[in-house]
Amino acid sequence: MITLALSKGRILDDSMPMLRSAGIELLEDPEQSRKLILGTSRSDVRVVLVRASDVPTYVQQGGADLGVAGLDVLLEHDSHGLYRPLDLGIARCRLSVATRADFDYASAVRQGSRIRVATKYTRLAREHFAAKGVHVDLIKLYGSMELAPLTGLADAIVDLVSTGGTLKANKLVEVERIMDISARLVVNQAALKVKREPLRALIEAFAGAVTAQPA
Ligand code: ATP
Ligand code: MG
Repeated sequence: MITLALSKGRILDDSMPMLRSAGIELLEDPEQSRKLILGTSRSDVRVVLVRASDVPTYVQQGGADLGVAGLDVLLEHDSHGLYRPLDLGIARCRLSVATRADFDYASAVRQGSRIRVATKYTRLAREHFAAKGVHVDLIKLYGSMELAPLTGLADAIVDLVSTGGTLKANKLVEVERIMDISARLVVNQAALKVKREPLRALIEAFAGAVTAQPA
């Protein structure tokens, strides 16, 4: 049995067409079902639904043989024991710094001021500002980062941006792009040895689906 870890929402939505083109259909609609383990049209493949940020843990610890996770989640998490073979090119977005329009980020950076930064991505934010030599006080949040500059909790946020609609709706501006993000297929290294042939075939099927995707 091969267990694939996915998270509900855009990872699942964007993965389903790829699974389909790899010849794998879910037997139930994940949005309708409350089940956390879903069978597929291939009797040797099942899908487990986990929180997006839990995908690396499941795959590292062997709770799943492989999974799909955003590069943001993978880089924020330690990658020990993960084989990261494939950029799936789905769930694309970018990790950026955003501030209120009236906050002069460029001059705060230039003057070497301490900046208060709210984010879910404390590791990535710390690395980014350290590399620039910018002093930051990091404030760890678990959601609704946009609220932090509006309430005076922080000067800036580090968060994912795709269309920029959420920033705009909250009168925030993107002042710096840190990196481009997309979802990756990750594989448990031990499983890759034990279940070599079926996993190789599945990874290749995903690779074929990437090529088949419109750019
Ligand atoms: P949870 O909602 O459980 O707290 P989450 O917010 O990380 O977790 P999603 O919003 O489904 O879960 O995001 C999953 C992944 O999709 C992210 O890790 C990221 O790689 C990608 N993603 C997040 N936001 C966007 C976005 N606005 N546009 C495109 N991709 C995104
Ligand atoms: Mg979310």
